Amino acid sequence: MTRQTQAFEIGGQAIPPGGRALVNLALPGLYTNDPVSMPAHVTHGRHEGPVVFVSAAVHGDEINGVEIIRRLLQLPLLKRLKGTLVAVPIVNVFGFHNRSRYLPDRRDLNRSFPGNEQGSLAGRLAHVFMSQIVQGVDLGIDLHTAALHRDNLPQIRADLSDPILEPLAKVFSAPVLLHSASPAGSLRGAAADLDVPVMVYEAGEALRFEEHSIQIGVRGILNVLRCLAMLPPTKRKPTRPSAVLRSSSWQRAPQSGILRAQARLGAMVAEGETLGLVADPTGERETPLSAPFDGVVIGRTHLPLVFEGEALFHVGRTGQTTLLEEHLDALNGGFDLSPPELIEELPIV
Ligand SMILES: [Zn+2]
Repeated sequence: MTRQTQAFEIGGQAIPPGGRALVNLALPGLYTNDPVSMPAHVTHGRHEGPVVFVSAAVHGDEINGVEIIRRLLQLPLLKRLKGTLVAVPIVNVFGFHNRSRYLPDRRDLNRSFPGNEQGSLAGRLAHVFMSQIVQGVDLGIDLHTAALHRDNLPQIRADLSDPILEPLAKVFSAPVLLHSASPAGSLRGAAADLDVPVMVYEAGEALRFEEHSIQIGVRGILNVLRCLAMLPPTKRKPTRPSAVLRSSSWQRAPQSGILRAQARLGAMVAEGETLGLVADPTGERETPLSAPFDGVVIGRTHLPLVFEGEALFHVGRTGQTTLLEEHLDALNGGFDLSPPELIEELPIV
């Protein structure tokens, strides 16, 4: 074990080995002349190890990750951290204030990376995050939920062809691990261009806290930090492996109308099985929507009023039905998923 000799520098501050600090990274202010900053909580271990960032609310209305980071930072276990953890609970501070996915300039921050110092508001915010947080980091975990009126089964999205990322994405042990390319302009894609592997955790709904999604998220991050030897190993039995999905497909509304959903989130569906029916308000013209292949519903809308072409059900292709059933039993049975080192507090209902 090698003692850390260097301070960790961020935002003009130097955090000594064994230190913890809240660093406020300056952002463009409000037009009311109020300053705005992005809070970054740094835990710089006494001993050397990797540098990992965990970020949340890149989409300002996706708040499960904010609570995941709060619980993570409460853990006494972090006193034993090797290496450095940089936790950014609210990346899109502007969207968070407005309870909105977007920035006040109506741009999507997660389509604006890597950004530019002279660019749009979104581009400048992305640039701050890239230059202050992502540069020189060994791994990132970016926490999301589904967009407004949608719900995601807890899942990791990662490029499984990346040999560094693949084992770490697996060890997170979310119910589902989806191999996927990163969208253009995303934090994940821009970080990959700098050779910083990033996995995305997607779980639950926008503007809602969902206890299981939060617990699986905290446990998953701890699993990853342990796998990197940043935290001491646990004597608990290893968590259940994820069901790996090599591909997925969104089923879109075949016509505008009113959706009567029939497939729950997490439902195992056979090819051709009806996911829901879209009809006009009188029910005269009705079109079924069916599963494109054998798989599992990993995302869905909760808003029955749909326009033609709207994404309604996200189906992941898998044959690992037994493994998935075990995960779903744990989710639906309300099992306490908390690792024992989590501080005692009542679950959010
Ligand atoms: Zn998101």
